[in-house]
Amino acid sequence: MLIRNAQIRSESAGQLVDIRIDDGRITWIRPAGDAAVAGVDSQAHSGQGGRSSQSGEFGEVVDVAGKFVAPQLVESHIHLDYAFSAGTPRDNESGTLFEAIEIWRERKQLGLGTAEEVRAKAIAAARSAASHGVGFIRTHVDVTDPELVALGVLVDVKKEVADFCQIEIVAFPQNGMYAYPGGDELVERALREGADVVGAIPHLEPTREDGVASLKHAFDLAEKFGARVDVHCDEIDDEQSRFVEVMAAEATKRSMQGLTNVSHAVAMSYYTPGFMARLLPKMQAAQLSFSVCPNENLHLQGRGFSNPVPRGVAPVKQLVDFGLNVAFCQDSISDPWYPMGNGDLVRIIDTGLHVGHMLTPAYVDTCLDFATTNPAQTLGLSDYGIAEGKRANLVVFEAGSEREILQESAPVLLSINDGRTVFERPSMNPVWRL
Ligand SMILES: [Zn+2]
Repeated sequence: MLIRNAQIRSESAGQLVDIRIDDGRITWIRPAGDAAVAGVDSQAHSGQGGRSSQSGEFGEVVDVAGKFVAPQLVESHIHLDYAFSAGTPRDNESGTLFEAIEIWRERKQLGLGTAEEVRAKAIAAARSAASHGVGFIRTHVDVTDPELVALGVLVDVKKEVADFCQIEIVAFPQNGMYAYPGGDELVERALREGADVVGAIPHLEPTREDGVASLKHAFDLAEKFGARVDVHCDEIDDEQSRFVEVMAAEATKRSMQGLTNVSHAVAMSYYTPGFMARLLPKMQAAQLSFSVCPNENLHLQGRGFSNPVPRGVAPVKQLVDFGLNVAFCQDSISDPWYPMGNGDLVRIIDTGLHVGHMLTPAYVDTCLDFATTNPAQTLGLSDYGIAEGKRANLVVFEAGSEREILQESAPVLLSINDGRTVFERPSMNPVWRL
């Protein structure tokens, strides 16, 4: 396959390139119009969305006419087993995180959500994300069920969607490990039965001491299974919730730098400057990464406060400016926690930059980092990116730059996974009659 006239992130903006793909890998990237592909132009014809394609010596040739080509997007925090469950058994009337957890508990007690339903909805959610250019997903799976039904379903789903999306699974104890008997053992069993990453939720444990113990147990399991750690950490409007500090300390003590991800970190937005000044170097030493879910936490947090209502989103700009790795994530697609969502990470980046006071050139012009290279680093993806020799996982946006993608909420016109076309989409531009 040959992709012609692509705009990629490069030192020389405006210089279009041709990208050749063979056997699922990018074999070369050359300035557009290079002699090696001369003659292809004479056969090209215009197609929808400014693209044209044909077959010939280079296999399929797609002329993207200056559109922006990025690596396939990476969703580093979502709950596929919860997708499309909103309203059953009831809606979340308060909009709070704690009513959502209560609804989820009721749902489990009532036995709602058969394995087949969870499977169909998880695949639909993965397809929805993939339709917006996502090629890699880290999903948290609730492992508080003694039968581990959702885990079994997601292990199957992982195989079923492998043609268009690479999934990894976090063993996530939604109600805590120590809030009921055997919770910690279920996390370990989940790791034996197909989960890839160790999860925890320390702020929902019965006491702070239980929360610390749950983190130590999570790191013990990570060492035992050679797994990474990804924790729902401090997702609460409480500046006393400081489990992220424990995560930094454990990651550093156990030489797990760069292998530990903090999801949400909502309470951090309430920390005092004095505490943050001590915390930032510790997080940097541990090379913590962060999955921030701005849409979800803007909806859930700050309930019950009088004006001015807090934002309840981690201080992203402060983290990024300190050199920490931050990704923006969807978290939910229509579940008790969040009634919206479709897996479109450009929408999430938009919200994240707004709430983070980051609509400035330094962030806007490289905004795809928050859903590409940053979460790829969180997942430890090797072979990722637009470069010669890398796996050919890439998308073509209907825009010429990252700024334009953000401003226009530009759709993905073409998605390629390991060299194979996942989907094409016609131009979303209007055909003007007046
Ligand atoms: Zn979550």
